[in-house]
Order: sequence, then C-alpha cells, then structure tokens
Amino acid sequence: MPEIRVTRPYMPPFAEYTEEIRELWDSRQITNMGKKHRQFQASLERYLSVPHTVLYANGHLALESALELFSFPPGSEVITTPFTFASTVHAIVRKGLIPVFCDIRADNFTIDTAKIPALITEKTVAILPVHTYGNLCDVEGLAALAARYGLTLIYDAAHAFGVTYKGVSAAAFGDVSVFSFHATKVFHTIEGGAQCFHDDRLLQASNDIKNFGIRSPEEIAYRGGNAKMSEFQAAMGLCNLRHVEDEIRKRKEKFLLYQERLEQVPGLRLNRIPTDTKANYAYMPVVFSGYPRSVPEVVQELRENHIEARRYFYPLVNDLPCYRDLPTTGGEKTPVAREIVANILTLPLYGDLETEAVESICKILRK
Ligand SMILES: *Cc1c(COP(=O)(O)O)cnc(C)c1O
Repeated sequence: MPEIRVTRPYMPPFAEYTEEIRELWDSRQITNMGKKHRQFQASLERYLSVPHTVLYANGHLALESALELFSFPPGSEVITTPFTFASTVHAIVRKGLIPVFCDIRADNFTIDTAKIPALITEKTVAILPVHTYGNLCDVEGLAALAARYGLTLIYDAAHAFGVTYKGVSAAAFGDVSVFSFHATKVFHTIEGGAQCFHDDRLLQASNDIKNFGIRSPEEIAYRGGNAKMSEFQAAMGLCNLRHVEDEIRKRKEKFLLYQERLEQVPGLRLNRIPTDTKANYAYMPVVFSGYPRSVPEVVQELRENHIEARRYFYPLVNDLPCYRDLPTTGGEKTPVAREIVANILTLPLYGDLETEAVESICKILRK
C-alpha cells in the first residue's frame, strides 16, 4: 500500500509547463528578470490585489530581505511567535536582530495581540507575526498596535496564499507581507517566494537586495545579495496560478469531509474558519485534548497504516537548542504555545488526496 503523505506538490499538466518554457530555449534568457518573471509578477499583483510584488528565489530569503529593507540597528528586537517554521526566527537572527517570543492564541494559533505590549522595550523595532496554517492573525489589532508604538509590521504570510479577510487579500496587510512558493505550499513555483507591499519607496531597495544592488551595467548602488527567481520558476508560477483556485476548491472538499467525519469525535478540536474569511485549506490541524491517545501514539498508529501526519510546529522554536540560551526564550514563557504544540497534529490535505484516504484516516481517529 503506497504511503499517504501529509502533503503533495500540485503539478500542472505536463504539456502546459513544457509549452510555457519552450520560448526559454529560443531566447536563452533563463534568469535575470526576463519575460516570464515580468508576466508572473504582473499576474500575481492582479491575483493578490497589491501594487507591488517582488519575486524571490524562496520565501526565506524574501523574509530576510524584508527585515533588511528597514535598516534596523543591529541588536534591535523583533516580536514574533515561537509556533512557526524555524525560518521565521532564523531570518530575524540572521539579520543581526533579536527575536522576542510572544505567546499565541489557543483558538487559531496566531500571535496573541494582547500579550505584545508587555514585551515592547526601547529596542523593539518590529512585529513579525505568522498567519499560521493560513489562519489570518488579528490584522486589525496588530495594525493599531504597530501604529500606536511606531513599529514596523512584517507578516510571514507563507501559509496564506489566496486567503482573503472581508474581501481583502492577505497580501495587503502590514508594511510587507511575505509569501513562500515552496513545493509544499498551496501555491508553488518549485522553490520561490515574494514580498508584497504598498509603499513605492520599498521597491528599489527590495530589487537591490535580491540582485547585488545592480541598477544598470555599470552602476552598483547597494551591497545586495542574490535571491532572484529564475524564468523556470516563474513559468511554473504562471501555470500553477491558472489552477490555484481549483486546487483550493478541491482542498476545501476534503476539509469538509474531514469536518463531517471528525466534528463529533470527543477529544478532537478542528480548525475553525471565520465567516468573514475565505480560507485556502493549506493544512488540516487537529488539536487532541481529552482524547484517549497522545499525539505521538496517534502518529505511530497512522504510520502503521501508511499514513504520514506531521507535528507542525514541534518543537517550539523557543525550545530549539540554537535559541535556548537567548535571554528572551524558553517554551515555559509561552504556555499556550507549549500546550498547543504538545497536542496538535496536521493530517494529510491536498487537492488530489483520495476521498477514501480521508475516510480511512477518520476511521482510525474515531476508533
Ligand atoms: C515555508 C515557510 C517559510 C520559508 O519558505 P521557503 O520558501 O521554504 O524558504 C517561512 N515561514 C513559514 C511559516 C513557512 O511555512
């Protein structure tokens, strides 16, 4: 019996991709912001309804670059969540800044706005929240808080592609929103990422950071690095963008089936989608609380049935050995995140996941 993975990259029709890349053989422009790059960028700006999208080689470099855009003094503090993929926090530290971990909300697993003010010091420059599992943060509360304290607000929107709140795209919030287009995300360019923002003044700086600061053949204006998206990645993005709404619709069908089968099971709590949100069904998190078996036991039982479930985001980033000795860390300081991370499991979810697979997973969990 083949293994059912927790996720599986969406693949466009093979002929559609080969057609998309055919002209790259003739033009020989296979990177350096060519035609596919320009087309993809324009298509994304339309789809995401944002004035500026800067494409990157991957989401992590787009995050690092977003922090570099504001020239924060070294050693400045950035308030973030420990319940995330390590990339979020690594980006802060790799830019010479100090992460300060804020606890999360138990209901949707995003940063708890109410707990941020107590963490603000004279060194705080920014807040870097994550739209965890595609659940949008308290965007209104965070905007008000950032304005009140004069802080930069950068969203890690890696999970939130295609999500809208009261009709507004997830790309529109904060000073910058950063997406990942990694193969495992709802929408991908194999590897890839983007920054979205409104402020025209950030555009040149972002392009400088991702392309060595080169502005013309003989002008290098900034000590930038290399984080450009290639034409092949952009071509994959052009193909996948045509199918992303269909992919989200198919994910929603599986999500609704899971919900129907698991909603009444004692000890299980499913992800709630607020009525003012259009979700992307990026993940299928389930909280086990008061359930007869522990999360590691459930993982083991699913594995015996050739089903992969993942403990995203275990361990908490503030419990990782590389962050344990920071003055601001320690999972005990974020008790809600500690409680959630011990009891949450992400079940398989992707567009072409078989209905029977969902049925058999639910049967194991109901037993
Ligand atoms: C995937 C992901 C990233 C990193 O994106 P890459 O494209 O893999 O570099 C950052 N933050 C979160 C929350 C992610 O899930």
